[in-house]
Amino acid sequence: MSTRDLAPAVDVIALREFLAERDEACPSCSYSLRGLTTDRCPECDEPLVLRVNLAEARLGAWITGLVALVACGGAGAICLLVVVGVSVVENDWPTGDRFFMIVTYPAFVASVAVPAAVALALPRGRRWFRKQGRAARLWVVLGGWMLLGAFAGGFFLLVP
Ligand SMILES: [Zn+2]
Repeated sequence: MSTRDLAPAVDVIALREFLAERDEACPSCSYSLRGLTTDRCPECDEPLVLRVNLAEARLGAWITGLVALVACGGAGAICLLVVVGVSVVENDWPTGDRFFMIVTYPAFVASVAVPAAVALALPRGRRWFRKQGRAARLWVVLGGWMLLGAFAGGFFLLVP
């Protein structure tokens, strides 16, 4: 038996020793792993490994995607509030294509971007984002910025 064959067993022993007296939460379901006797979470059955990690997690991509979604949701909501406010004060509501561009479009964008930003900002969303591969994380970030670009471009170029 080589040392390579022994590595998984040694890893399980190290994991058990590490968790024997520590209150660590499962990265998947947050269940307390204190006193764990196997290499699987007793709650969600995910396999667990003991690893060395960076003291500061890399959050750049997550923050970049979150900023785009918050900006997009905020811009859509603010545009909608301004249009509704002005329409109420002047008692003159936009109609036809204009109604679509300055009421329906911002409402649609805000209704997509705000829930997406909230979901991504929650601890569960951050964990989900971290678990994604590099390509999937890039698509989330690009999607947020493309939504913001499409909204800003569509709203400010077509509305005036
Ligand atoms: Zn778990």
